Amino acid sequence: MSDAQLEQVTRFLGHVSLFENVKPEYLPSIAKRVEERVFARGQIIFNEGEPGDTLYIVKAGSVGVFLVDAKVGLRFELARLRSGQVFGEMAMLTEQPRGATCQAMEPTECILISRPTFMAIVERVPQVALSVAEVLANRVDQLNRERGQTKVELSELRFDPDVYRMIPGRILERHKMIPLSIQNGIMSVACVDATDLTGLDEIRRIVRGVEIRPVTVGEADYLQFLRQHATQLPQDTQRAKVRRSEPIQWVSDDIKETKLESGSDDIKILVDMLVSQGIELEASDIHIEPELEQVNVRYRVSGLLQRRQGQPIPRAYHRALASRIKVLADLDISERRRPQDGRITLKMGQRQYDLRVSTMPTHEGEKIVLRILDTAAAIQPIERLILADKVCRVVKQLVQRPHGVVFVCGPTGSGKTTTLYSAVGLRRREDTNIVTVEDPVEYNLPGITQVSVNPEIGLKFASILRSFLRQDPNVILVGETRDAETGKIALEAGLTGHLVLTSLHTNDALGSIQRLREMGLEDYAIAASLVGVISQRLVRRLCPMCAKEDQPSPHVLEQLAMIDVLSRDFKGGLKKVVGCETCGGTGYRGRVGVYELLVADDNLRQEIIAGSAQFKLREAALKGAFVPMERYSHYLLTQGLTTPEELLAIHAGKS
Ligand SMILES: [Zn+2]
Repeated sequence: MSDAQLEQVTRFLGHVSLFENVKPEYLPSIAKRVEERVFARGQIIFNEGEPGDTLYIVKAGSVGVFLVDAKVGLRFELARLRSGQVFGEMAMLTEQPRGATCQAMEPTECILISRPTFMAIVERVPQVALSVAEVLANRVDQLNRERGQTKVELSELRFDPDVYRMIPGRILERHKMIPLSIQNGIMSVACVDATDLTGLDEIRRIVRGVEIRPVTVGEADYLQFLRQHATQLPQDTQRAKVRRSEPIQWVSDDIKETKLESGSDDIKILVDMLVSQGIELEASDIHIEPELEQVNVRYRVSGLLQRRQGQPIPRAYHRALASRIKVLADLDISERRRPQDGRITLKMGQRQYDLRVSTMPTHEGEKIVLRILDTAAAIQPIERLILADKVCRVVKQLVQRPHGVVFVCGPTGSGKTTTLYSAVGLRRREDTNIVTVEDPVEYNLPGITQVSVNPEIGLKFASILRSFLRQDPNVILVGETRDAETGKIALEAGLTGHLVLTSLHTNDALGSIQRLREMGLEDYAIAASLVGVISQRLVRRLCPMCAKEDQPSPHVLEQLAMIDVLSRDFKGGLKKVVGCETCGGTGYRGRVGVYELLVADDNLRQEIIAGSAQFKLREAALKGAFVPMERYSHYLLTQGLTTPEELLAIHAGKS
């Protein structure tokens, strides 16, 4: 080693925690006795089972520590070590064979310390032995946790369905594992077999940067848990049941069989393949765009467009491809200069999907975008929307009422339709006749009669509603109560033995009563049929993988106090945005609803009949089961589901 090298190694050793108790003047003499070695990317440093008595310190680069899962023979990564971290200490101390395989994950430099050198150091500085013992203890602890054997009852553990949803169902089913929750960056995973390292490793690969802590549960307990949560387990598990080889079945009432059969087999297979790939990827859209040499296909997955993998599609196929899709969507195949819209219904496996097709003439030819709507996902369990237990329970009760009107209100894009569908889902049963009037029908819901409004041929909300009333429905969903006529029929229907679910374009729950009055509806009719009002907004949901505890600033506290979401002397911590790989660095993942719930009780009804002003209605509501949006915001904030910024934005927009 040259003098310069020696100095550099000395400096490095001074930063290694193993030597933190070593006096600086002694470091050069250690540096003189160590060896430096460089490993190429992928090079094995040593293998599990080999003899060895050298301790390694990563100087630069990174080293993967791997164990082999005896049962399946696959190796999994136990740890990734970086500059300053130590490995190989176990074999050096115990003179036993290497307990794991270590491999350079990139070009890596290591410092090697032989057993005699280490012993000489310990003789001079005994604390170094303690430091190495600490490294060892941590490693043993990690191994034990990795193979954690203490059995627990699943029902005693916290379960967050959203954490469950992060891991594809097929992995969980194969390994009999249930991700339960994430707290302080540690994901608890219930496992029937906690020595199934391959399964844990697959999960680790998906939720990078999160520590995985397995807890062992009994198999009976595991199965019982799955049965219990079957209805509320997220769609991913159901989606994963679409098997790769399931063929596509095009379902179409209006298109003649012969038309479906048109086109060459090649093109038919190609279209089937593009669509089934999109569904398997859980893409929301498929973009098909002609380029000079080829047809470019991209899928939008989790909000980001990604290029299709596989053989490029020659440009010469584009026209036939576009024609085939237009035939399926019942569009005019000869029209290539104007944009067209259509839809296709198809079945893959047990599930039905709708494709909304849009064509756009571009310089290079027609660009086609297919939006994939998963029909089964249209009806979400209400528990997944309304996260606050108590509020959710009351909403369920309202929806189970035999008659009356439930209004869902909020601005455009606040998720009203999703809530209405979810409510309809609660009533979907063999013995219940459900009908919907929508503008237009968004998703085809099996077992439900749906009609789109079409003013051009006189099919308006009001006229369809009137016809529906002669069809003996139990539950009627009216997409939107837009005008007095629709409002009047809705209230009448609610009075005459039907449950009506409808949306209203108002800002808050009490505002909906005002809105109905402005439509010219009578106070007594409103009071008599009103069951309840749900008002809602959507805010971005904090990414559970990276959100961190945070002390809100006095300024933020003051702002939250101004809108009645937190009290000025609030002492607890909130969560703040960080950003990680799973959320694309945004710190948010998906959205979460903010609700306001108004339940019509006798008190409120009297005030409505008396024609009371809104502030008096509010007073009456507050005496009953009214949950103002402020209180729900408080819940979301203190549960760490969203941030002050998100809530301040919606409350600012309300007034
Ligand atoms: Zn994140």
